Amino acid sequence: MQLILHEYILPLAHPFTIARGSLTEQHSLIVELRDGAHRGYGEAPLSDYYDATLERVRTALESARAVVESYPLTDPSALWAATAPLLAQHPFAHSALDCAAHDLWGKKLGQPVHRLWGLDAATAPASSYTIGIDTLDVMIAKLRERPHWPVYKVKVGTPQDLEVVRALRQQTTAPLRVDANCGWSAEEAIGLASTLRDLGVEFIEQPLPPEDIAGQARVFRESALPIIADESCENEADVDACAGRFHGINIKLCKCGGLTPARRMIARARALGLRLMVGCMTESTVGISAAAQIAPLMDFVDLDGAALLAADAATGVRVADGQFHFPDLPGCGVELLPR
Ligand code: MG
Repeated sequence: MQLILHEYILPLAHPFTIARGSLTEQHSLIVELRDGAHRGYGEAPLSDYYDATLERVRTALESARAVVESYPLTDPSALWAATAPLLAQHPFAHSALDCAAHDLWGKKLGQPVHRLWGLDAATAPASSYTIGIDTLDVMIAKLRERPHWPVYKVKVGTPQDLEVVRALRQQTTAPLRVDANCGWSAEEAIGLASTLRDLGVEFIEQPLPPEDIAGQARVFRESALPIIADESCENEADVDACAGRFHGINIKLCKCGGLTPARRMIARARALGLRLMVGCMTESTVGISAAAQIAPLMDFVDLDGAALLAADAATGVRVADGQFHFPDLPGCGVELLPR
């Protein structure tokens, strides 16, 4: 097996702002695994917040090159385990490698990955479309530009949150979700929850910073809306602590280290009675196609990453107006576009 790394700069359709910062382009490292005629792809969307810089992700993958290239790929989860000693501190790198291994595995077997797991793509819930923080007029324009999505996720964490949700509510009858990206206090979360519920908001994602454990316990008890963990649930080790503090968790492949640990998190979260969401970073169809493989196991889906880009890196699973279009192709269905 040959390991090849591709650097991408993916332009966003609009500047994308959340509670902690703004992006106009997304830098990404795409992993290719080549085995004879077959090629599998996985993506690491680079992120300063998660300390997944190009330098760190590339160096981590280079450290695993010898193990990867000598590996007979029969089971992607075995490759994940074999590279864990080298990549445990580098979940974005580990995820890109694991997703590439799954894509390649399915392609070698001639079957889509979700089907090899016994899942039916038709049962995947529709995805939300995310509206980043901006002026009220721009947020309304962003929703009007994408009027056919079945659910919208609104980034909040500013003094205008309620005004924004009220204004967006006037624009659509679709359910809304809000994501504060750690931008609220416990008082704000509890205070806003019942009004948001009355405005047709389904849940609040990550209201508080992960370190505010006591505040989160209060929000869990007193909030009128379910609370979904994102920054508080990065990987497998975080799942148990979310029970009794959150109503559900948002799994992102690059936070947890790939499809292999994501499937274990799903099983554990279900056993604990947690609801499940799959999310993404701003990432291309390479990353989205991998995450889409677990979408049939989810209660909520937020896989609009590629829909936020002005130019994509690949074809694969397409999410259009919130609906999944799985290609009739093996693996995760990823094929890189010519550059
Ligand atoms: Mg989030």
